[in-house]
Amino acid sequence: MKIEIDKNSGFCFGVVKAIEIAESELKVDKKLYCLGDIVHNGAEVKRLEKIGLITINHEEFKKLKNTKVLLRAHGEPPETYEIAKQNNIKLIDASCPIVLNLQKKIHKSYSEILEIEGQIIIYGKQGHAEVVGLLGHTNNKGIVVSEVDDLNKIDFSKPVSIFSQTTKSSSGYQKIIDELKIRMKKVQGKDEISFISHASTCRQVSTRDVHLVEFAKKHDIIIFVSGKKSSNGKLLYEVCKEQNNRSYFISNTEELKKIWFNETDSVGICGATSTPEWLMKKVGYEIQKFDF
Ligand code: SF4
Repeated sequence: MKIEIDKNSGFCFGVVKAIEIAESELKVDKKLYCLGDIVHNGAEVKRLEKIGLITINHEEFKKLKNTKVLLRAHGEPPETYEIAKQNNIKLIDASCPIVLNLQKKIHKSYSEILEIEGQIIIYGKQGHAEVVGLLGHTNNKGIVVSEVDDLNKIDFSKPVSIFSQTTKSSSGYQKIIDELKIRMKKVQGKDEISFISHASTCRQVSTRDVHLVEFAKKHDIIIFVSGKKSSNGKLLYEVCKEQNNRSYFISNTEELKKIWFNETDSVGICGATSTPEWLMKKVGYEIQKFDF
């Protein structure tokens, strides 16, 4: 069996940076709270918890005082920073710089659109941590749209400024804005509409699907490794599945099944932006151990 691990899969730089910051803090203190899963990958979270990372949710965060808390790459709404100030919590801010920049842009755009009674739209997953953070920068007035059906939430007669969650697909975003423009023009009865599109998909992610198409085609079988909570993982797995019917989604090595493989298969192992390289290597190692 020939096995290849996709060089383009694995952590994006935002996640790498957040983990590096956590590891360096843990060398000093041996204990560090992290607000939410540092990455949507259970195996990596467990590895960091073994060296002292304690994952907390927002309710637990509100009860903490006089301590240190790490903010992960997804970013947080302004409310989190206010609570930290009130409770004397030192924030170790590992928010990805790209997300922080997007938060600033959305905040500015929100102030501008308010003046013309328009709407801010975020193409993303309702409840996703990054989307919660972005919404916070619109005073929670932004409208989240995940699919074309959600466009019914929009008032097509009003101006629109639209953004994308960084990990959503560029093609999905394009579909939404195309449909939105058609409906706005129809309702307003004119071609000139007040519509601003901010294609805020992250390049670290948006180019991965293109590459994965080729990767999935060139192998007999694809093992896609990702945490089940990763929206980027689900999306990229679908890309593989469309190209290669023998694509399997696993989160850990225990989910591998020997029955999937033939002795002469060329096996491609790939994953999401939240999949650690060590886990993909471990999967490759376990596959090699199968006895045919
Ligand atoms: S996907 Fe892009 S924006 Fe999101 S954390 Fe990674 S590098 Fe940052």
